[in-house]
Amino acid sequence: MTIRQTIGFNNSYAAELEGFYVPWQGDKAPDPVIVHLNTPLAIELGLDPVDLDSAGGAAFFAGSELPNGAEPLAQVYAGHQFGGFSQQLGDGRALLVGELVDQNGDRRDIHLKGSGRTPFSRGGDGKAVLGPVLREYLMGEAMHALGIPTTRALAAVTTGEQIMRDGLQPGAVLARVASSHLRVGTFQFFAARGEIEKLRKLADYAIRRHYKDLENDENRFLGLLKKIIDRQAALVAKWMGVGFVHGVMNTDNMTISGETIDYGPCAFIDNYDPGAVFSSIDEQGRYSYGNQPAIAQWNLSRFAETLLPLIDPDDSDNSIRLATDEINAFPAAYQQYWLNGMKAKLGLVGDAGADIELVNALYSAMEGQNVDFTQLFRRLADAARGHDDGLFALFNESSAIEAWLSNWLARLKRDGQVLEDRAEAMDKVNPVYIARNHKVEEALQAATVQADFGPFEKLLVVLKKPFERRDGLRDFEEAAPAEFGRYKTYCGT
Ligand code: AMP
Ligand code: MG
Repeated sequence: MTIRQTIGFNNSYAAELEGFYVPWQGDKAPDPVIVHLNTPLAIELGLDPVDLDSAGGAAFFAGSELPNGAEPLAQVYAGHQFGGFSQQLGDGRALLVGELVDQNGDRRDIHLKGSGRTPFSRGGDGKAVLGPVLREYLMGEAMHALGIPTTRALAAVTTGEQIMRDGLQPGAVLARVASSHLRVGTFQFFAARGEIEKLRKLADYAIRRHYKDLENDENRFLGLLKKIIDRQAALVAKWMGVGFVHGVMNTDNMTISGETIDYGPCAFIDNYDPGAVFSSIDEQGRYSYGNQPAIAQWNLSRFAETLLPLIDPDDSDNSIRLATDEINAFPAAYQQYWLNGMKAKLGLVGDAGADIELVNALYSAMEGQNVDFTQLFRRLADAARGHDDGLFALFNESSAIEAWLSNWLARLKRDGQVLEDRAEAMDKVNPVYIARNHKVEEALQAATVQADFGPFEKLLVVLKKPFERRDGLRDFEEAAPAEFGRYKTYCGT
């Protein structure tokens, strides 16, 4: 059973980067069934969703029956995992099916995760299971709806297999879409082997694909470093603004495009806590909420190292100097993105000089007060409208926020700004609904244990419109009940 439509694949990675992958096939899934198809995304990609929502579509998304024009391949990469370098990683359970140019003219990868073993599987079984597949689905769509660059889910299928993890779990494949799957780790693979010509080829490919304006740049490789530093600074600032913890910021999980990728043990914080860690294996808190900007800079330093032979091929000291200057510029770039984001969250227009102090004072006011980070900003908007009860109720002691509130209101009114307008602007950037841990767990449990996809479907609908409060969804905006306890996520993907 195959799909009827012809997909106009246009595979630049396969064509231009021979030696950077192994052509490969997916396993035959015994009984592939679509559990969710992202119809709007399919349409955006120029695909026929009705044709995809079929037995043929299920076989396609499982990797069992690939349509004409697909050139499935497993990409090779390396990476620093929790600070230690692995020279040999790669798509151990994934396939790049092919690329297509979407309705907006943008090139997108169609990629399957969980489609079987490849030459890069090492000890792994090449499979994925339903819970983590649905988690990646929800998280990616939630981030997209929040306006954060991310890979997206096109479909989730169950394969009909039972896979051994923590007990037997339903096997599943996630079909996802990315602007590319180039990773910092892709560069590291060739740099570690001293394959400079391949590195140059990869860097030129990345420039053609993502940073075309650099093509005629005097030093395009330094330019590439600058661009990626900038995109990652912008990305991590956005994560921080919504309380997102990626959980496994290994260099193989950092993209060259600046999209969030590889949702594993990720989660959103409830209360503001810079030390928040959810991943069961992140014992040192390397990838804690507050550590993410520093880790991004660390990863970018590893990326910069790979480019050194290209930046100034004749003078390695000069390469190091130039690259170091760029890496050292990361904190300021990050802080600017972060501050702009926070100002938007707080409805601040213009520049009052001391805005950063005002933002920092809000963080100080939250300390030890068990404040729900997401609710805080909506309730501040309510306070700007004159209803401050909800805001005070969020703090253990309302006195913790009183002084700050009057300073902020004074700043907000500056230059004759109308508070109602400011509040409205805030509500456009501060979500009511995030992927609350207890709601995600509830949805995954129902799907994996009872084959009940109702809670998953409902949560997805909620998360697709995060800024718009809707009737009957009160429990989706509330923090986890106390009995939910401390949340732990697992890499057991
Ligand atoms: P991740 O932690 O998911 O980013 O993956 C790190 C590396 O482990 C990548 O090379 C993956 O392809 C590989 N990997 C993860 N899970 C599996 C699995 N079940 N089978 C084979 N390889 C895997
Ligand atoms: Mg990964």
